[in-house]
Amino acid sequence: MARLVIVSNRVAVPAEGSGAVAAGGLAVAVKEAFTAYEGLWFGWSGNIVDQPSDEPTIIDRDRIQYALVDLSPQDHREYYSGFANRALWPIMHYRLGLGAFSRSDYAGYSRVNRFFAQTLAGLIEPDDIIWVHDYHLLPLASELRGLGIANPIGYFHHIPWPAADVFNSLPASGDLLRAIADYDLIGLQTEPDVQNLTRNLCDTLRAIPLGAGSLMVDGRRTRIRSFPIGIDVAGFKDAAEKAASDRTVRETIAGLRTRKLIIGVDRLDYSKGVPERMEAVDRFLASNPDQRGNVVYLQIAPKSRSDVPEYEQLAREVNETVGEINGNTGDPTWTPIQYVTKAYARPVLAGLYRAARVGLVTPMRDGMNLVAKEYVVAQSGDDPGVLILSKFAGAAQQLPEAILVNPYDRFEVAEAIRTALYMPRAERLARWKPMVERMTREDVDWWARNFLSELENFRTVEREPP
Ligand code: UDP
Repeated sequence: MARLVIVSNRVAVPAEGSGAVAAGGLAVAVKEAFTAYEGLWFGWSGNIVDQPSDEPTIIDRDRIQYALVDLSPQDHREYYSGFANRALWPIMHYRLGLGAFSRSDYAGYSRVNRFFAQTLAGLIEPDDIIWVHDYHLLPLASELRGLGIANPIGYFHHIPWPAADVFNSLPASGDLLRAIADYDLIGLQTEPDVQNLTRNLCDTLRAIPLGAGSLMVDGRRTRIRSFPIGIDVAGFKDAAEKAASDRTVRETIAGLRTRKLIIGVDRLDYSKGVPERMEAVDRFLASNPDQRGNVVYLQIAPKSRSDVPEYEQLAREVNETVGEINGNTGDPTWTPIQYVTKAYARPVLAGLYRAARVGLVTPMRDGMNLVAKEYVVAQSGDDPGVLILSKFAGAAQQLPEAILVNPYDRFEVAEAIRTALYMPRAERLARWKPMVERMTREDVDWWARNFLSELENFRTVEREPP
């Protein structure tokens, strides 16, 4: 059996004896991929140590080999918190004002990518295909090629790819564009993302389009295509159907009494538009006084990246907004916004989504947004709820039957909440059916299979030695 090598910033090693790949976005996404291949998963262990070893720690578990490296405090600060999360993340999400570029962070990012390549190169066998994930590792193929690795290397970008003017405001943008062309296959979430990157390569590096997504960049051939990531539909449906037996789900439903539930679930990240969404709920309650006391908006928002100052600031802003709205609008019998920063397991989320009449998913910008897909799949076919979705989420391309909104316009979002709450069952069903059918066809297995079958085509490509 041929071997698939997955590379990602973090590696999710399952607990011993659990017999399963660990839960978590990427882990679920690549599970299927590993059923058709022998597997090696390479990346950061999550440990920060003073003197990281050049030798990866190898763990064999359930047919998959995990190869883990540690990072030094400086690596972690510059590569991960610095360049990846304070420069690339905001720029890719169109937030130029939040981008914090520093040359030392970029040097750290380049250094860790070189370190990953050097450590990984010794583990690569001639028949392997290599699949690299996400923005932490944009230059990895270029580093591997420099070490003589000629295997097919694909890259999947989980977040948005912005318009050229936005991306090129990043001081390192030219280097990164040149480096990314060393991947044989570049997968993006949506067609608009594909157009943004393709145009940028053509305008900035004079890349030559060869048709069907292929480009010649500086004498190298690469292919750019959209592969919208899906979810584990069968697993999620099953979890949603069984969730009524979960205590949190049961008690949340009982606590609602006759009130309708509006739900938001997001990592606490400024790209998700959480305070803006709360303002929209406030607007809705102000213009629909008859709905006061009749709806509850539950926002689940586990904290993330708390060592990055912009995230700390956001956490404070959300606390203040919740306090202000609940203080001004609530009364002793009713708290309009329930806000929790605890993370919930997916089966619990599945039950809460199913109990919610409205799924409110309004990121300011998002590569895909899996919560939107999960909300759709978790609904009961008898009486489905309504998805309100930002038109700036990648998921909007596949879910046009949702109520699509501009998240910057709180009046529009407030109006959409009203429309959703009053929507008759026939219309809810008519919107939901095509969405759930599409999500079932275009699930996570479909995504992984499509990407890998395309990457397999690069096995026969002859490469010049570096
Ligand atoms: N999630 C979770 N527990 C929580 C909140 C979120 O398991 O308390 C999961 C959620 O079900 C979804 C993922 O985290 O699968 C978030 O993915 P999404 O694409 O929506 O956003 P990201 O965090 O990747 O930007």
